[in-house]
Amino acid sequence: MIKTVIFDVDNTLYSYTEAHKEAFKALTAYAEEKLGLSQEDFEKLHQDTEKELRAYMGNVAALHNRCIRYQVMLERRGIPLYPHVLKMNDLYWNRLLEAAEPSDGALDTIKALKGQGIRIGIGTDMTARVQFLKLETLGILSYVDFLVSSEEAGAEKPEQAFFARCVEKAGCGADECLFVGDNLTKDVLGAVDAGLHGVWYCPKGAGKTADVLQITELLQLLEKASAW
Ligand SMILES: [Mg+2]
Repeated sequence: MIKTVIFDVDNTLYSYTEAHKEAFKALTAYAEEKLGLSQEDFEKLHQDTEKELRAYMGNVAALHNRCIRYQVMLERRGIPLYPHVLKMNDLYWNRLLEAAEPSDGALDTIKALKGQGIRIGIGTDMTARVQFLKLETLGILSYVDFLVSSEEAGAEKPEQAFFARCVEKAGCGADECLFVGDNLTKDVLGAVDAGLHGVWYCPKGAGKTADVLQITELLQLLEKASAW
């Protein structure tokens, strides 16, 4: 029997891909106007910096901290950090939050699960504060019983330490937890390896691969959760 359902956040509870496009557009306009960088130049600088930081920092939650990314970008070009780093960071996240809409059925699914006495967890590769802001904006935060960020766990999905922390907080057996996310390797196979049930959320249609349970709408979770 499923006692806890744990949700990934980005591209599961809302479309990060769509919201990011809007936020990045705003950032690119800022770079053009305030830093004198063309769109092409800015995109390349952004990409190169991300690559450099990934190689230097490794697979850690701080890699998602955009303040660090913008700071290093400007350092590479000898552009003053003040006032741009904080302005860019705020611009990106404020725009992303404005653009973020809950995925179809997300709220109804979570409310219905809660109504069945199921605990709601969040399991996300990211720094905690930004995820709290997203969940608050999406209207989901008040239903959340616990959250595990990779910042807290010191490990990113699919590392087993991450899922162990989720199970510890769920307060039930791993096989009584269901983890749902859009990333097959990180969310679904990671969860299954740790003994949880994994559900692959594929809003654009079922994925080709895999011997795993797939859903195209979050509301389908209701029947899946009660089937165990
Ligand atoms: Mg995701």
